[in-house]
Parts: sequence; structure tokens; C-alpha cells
Amino acid sequence: MTSHLTILGWHNVESTWCFPVSGSGVAGLEGQLRRLRRVATVVPLERALDALRAGEPLPPRAVALCWDDGYRDNLELAVPVLERLELPATFFLVPGLLSGTERAWWEVAGWAFARSGRDAVEWRGERYPTRGAAGRTAYGRASDRLRVMTAAGRAVALEELVDALAPEGTPGDGRLFLDWDGARELVRRGFSVGSHTMRHVTLAQETPEDQVEDLRRSRELLQRELDVPIRTVAYPFGQADAVSRETEHAAEQAGYAHGLTTEFGWNGPATPAAHGRRIMLDPDRGFVATGLSRVTGRLRRLRGAG
Ligand SMILES: [Zn+2]
Repeated sequence: MTSHLTILGWHNVESTWCFPVSGSGVAGLEGQLRRLRRVATVVPLERALDALRAGEPLPPRAVALCWDDGYRDNLELAVPVLERLELPATFFLVPGLLSGTERAWWEVAGWAFARSGRDAVEWRGERYPTRGAAGRTAYGRASDRLRVMTAAGRAVALEELVDALAPEGTPGDGRLFLDWDGARELVRRGFSVGSHTMRHVTLAQETPEDQVEDLRRSRELLQRELDVPIRTVAYPFGQADAVSRETEHAAEQAGYAHGLTTEFGWNGPATPAAHGRRIMLDPDRGFVATGLSRVTGRLRRLRGAG
């Protein structure tokens, strides 16, 4: 027995504007999960986190699986694979996206770059090429700037960016995400759900009061609509500039038992409950390219480590 938990996270399965996938995402994902099943013990996320906190042992090489944002292909493509392989998983959902009242700005920006009618644009004092690999890099730079804004500031900045890029057509971003019926279907099929905030805000950029309010509302709304307890939050983006001490405190105040970042690493008994670590993966890359080989390497080393 051991007391380490590795949490692996994904977003989409097949290509989106923000997360392009080369080849078949679902085949890549199935390959990852089949290999994982051979080298690790896949456990339910919340139960494993509860056990860690309580000082109880976990199975050897314990790994939990989760998906962020509520992309529609999580239900349509990932769930059938998970069911076939009999693997538990948790989906971190955003009520604003489920209701269609919020737009996924990272997808809107990704679309605007991909469909831009211009070779390069000026936005807020910097130049952004739009084509090829330079365009992808530029999109990443623009996203990094948008990510660390408040929700209100970002809405204005995104509009300016889209205006500058002058994309053709419409992004169709709403179709990328599950609605409430899709969320209920995840629950009906036995999967777990957690909160990913009301509007996918960058929590640390908002006031402490707004963070508590968002986290509390998203928990209550998901509980009411899905009729399941919501005890875990995955902080949007999850890196240091998106999760502050106030954020972790807000998660506790809002009633969450566990908070998950995207800080690389595994979790042990001493890992703070509001600052769990996860390893985020892409479905289309082999274990080596995604870093999963590092995880499985570590898992093997941990085997005798207790
Ligand atoms: Zn997210």
C-alpha cells in the first residue's frame, strides 16, 4: 500500500480552436488509458483524496482521471472509452457554459486567430502574426495576457482583439460544450462532477469576496441541478497566477473539501487540501511527448516507496 495519488487531467478529446489535435484524439486517448490501466490503479478521485487526508492507504500506483471545462466530446467520446475500460472519472463543469450564458474566451480567441483575414495585427501595443506556427505562438501570447485579466477587463480586451483580427464566419464555440442535459447524463452514467467556477474566471485576479461568491454559487447551482454533492473545485487555469492564498481560502469558505491546481506533481498526506497537484495532458500525443512517461516512471519508482 502507498499514500501517493497522481491526478491526470484533460480538456477536449478532438480538435478545438484552442486545443488542436493532430490525428485521432479519441484513439490517442484510448491508447493512453489502456497503457495507464496496465501500469497504475485507477481510483475515484474524491474517495482517494478523502483517504489521503484521513491518513488511509491507497492502492499501489494510484491514479485518478479528470476532465476540465465540460467539452461536449467528453460525454460523446471519452465516456464510452472510460465505460469500456471500466475506469472512474470526474468532470469539472462551468455552470455559465452549461447554461450558454458564458462564452469560452480561449476558444473565441483561438477561432479569431485561425480565421483571421489579416497576416498580422496590433493589439494593445504588441504585434501578433496570425499564420502558421508563428500564429500559434502569437495566440499563446495573447491568451497569456487575457488569462491574467479580471473578467470585466478581459471582455473589453477580447472584443478589441477579435475586432483587430477580423475573422471570417462565426466561432460556433457554444456547440463545443455540454449543456445541463449533458451534465445530467454524465451523472446518470455514474461519473463524478466537480466545480470549475461559475464563469471560468481567473480566480486570483478577482477580489476575495467575488472569489467566495463565485465558488459558493457554482457549488450550489451544480448541486441543485445535478442532485449530487459538489465537494471538489478545479481552479480554472490552475497555475500560480490564477490561484492565490485567497483563492484557496475562498474554496474552503465556499464549502469545498478539495481544491485542485495544475501544479505538476503528485499528492501525498501532507499536500494541502486546497492545493492539490495535477498533471494536464493532451489526448493526441504519446506518453513520451505528454510527460506521462515521467509519471509512469515515477509511479514505478514509488512502487516500493510506501
Ligand atoms: Zn478550464
